[in-house]
Amino acid sequence: MDLILLAVPFFFVLIAAELVADRVRGQRNFTLADSINSLSTGALSTSTGLLTKGVGLVTYALAWEHLALLRLPQQAWWVWVLAFVLYDFCYYWLHRLGHERNVLWAAHSVHHQSEEYNLTTALRQTSSGFIFAWVFYLPLALVGVPPLVFITVASLNLLYQFWVHTRHIPKLGWLEWILITPSNHRVHHAQNPVYLDRNYGGVFILWDRLFGTFKEEDPDEPVVFGVTTPLASWNPLWANLQFYAQLWNDARRTQRVWDKLRIWFMPTGWRPADVAARYPQAKPDLALFRKFEVALGRAQQAYVAVQFVVYVALGSYLMEVAERVPGAALVLGWSVMAVGLFVLGTLLENRPWARRLEWLRLLSNAPALYLAGALGLALITPLGWFLLLVYSLLSACGLAQCGRLALGAHGAKAPAQPEQGAKQQQAAEHP
Ligand SMILES: [Zn+2]
Ligand SMILES: [Zn+2]
Repeated sequence: MDLILLAVPFFFVLIAAELVADRVRGQRNFTLADSINSLSTGALSTSTGLLTKGVGLVTYALAWEHLALLRLPQQAWWVWVLAFVLYDFCYYWLHRLGHERNVLWAAHSVHHQSEEYNLTTALRQTSSGFIFAWVFYLPLALVGVPPLVFITVASLNLLYQFWVHTRHIPKLGWLEWILITPSNHRVHHAQNPVYLDRNYGGVFILWDRLFGTFKEEDPDEPVVFGVTTPLASWNPLWANLQFYAQLWNDARRTQRVWDKLRIWFMPTGWRPADVAARYPQAKPDLALFRKFEVALGRAQQAYVAVQFVVYVALGSYLMEVAERVPGAALVLGWSVMAVGLFVLGTLLENRPWARRLEWLRLLSNAPALYLAGALGLALITPLGWFLLLVYSLLSACGLAQCGRLALGAHGAKAPAQPEQGAKQQQAAEHP
């Protein structure tokens, strides 16, 4: 039961509604590049999930089959309620360790890299969570929660978390005591030192209150969103690799073998002493914080937005057919998504070579379509080739229109939203 696929249209309707609310209330919670980058990591995560979900499902099914202490009945309503609550308890610990341990943060940090906070941030998900996440849900299998119940409550838990990623909803009274809400999840996405590592629940905030990790949103301490080591990129592949790369470099550089091994499982931010001395990393001053931004012409923005819609359709199609096509076809689909979203990221970053890469991407669509037919990913008819031809010609015309701005790639235009700006915005949102 893939509830996520069914929810995709609702995600986009609600994102559009939030965008309208943004304009009506005169706020700036969205930027095109940030939204596309967040949605790109989401699309990449979903595509990767089609290849890797077996890891979680097989380990769960095996544990349930051979290690379960009880056989809980799938038909009983209380089993669903128990599973829903227990799942969130396990999620709390996965999420908490996801912030507290280096290798787990390398996966989870993707969700936190956006310096905006809106419904697209909710879809900003990691592609490497499958490596360790399954371990944390084994207790449900041991208790005897049937796999179908597990899969369904997992989807419901993820779906619930969508609506809390907004700045438009203020505190919600007594609900703040029980549930994850927009207010207490804003705190979770903060990089302000006072808010760091708080509010880990997925649906229930009770776990945080119980284990001492709760922090209330303070009107005098406006949230500055993002991570303390900024991603500073619109590349969805790099978003997934950034912290792994840092850990890898540190592990490679340190002299001590023990440090090479333990760095992965040490508390987040821990670095070998010799590497920290030779390659110090200063944390940026929050008072000087500027959101990452790259100046971009309107034509290029429109071009990337239109191309991105194609990838949303492609990703949805992959989810739809995933059960019925061979693994090689899914690998092809994943590759097309990964390369395409990467190239769109380079256009958003206005890299000097981005347009040449985009021409190559357009040219590579014909062999990709041929392979899709050969591998059984899609039935390729003459109409399919004709549509590709029309799409390629229109794209070529659009790309030719995009004059690259000569403003330089990074930080060319960076309207500030340091703490002061955040304060003004918060006052406007929740007077
Ligand atoms: Zn988190
Ligand atoms: Zn979140």
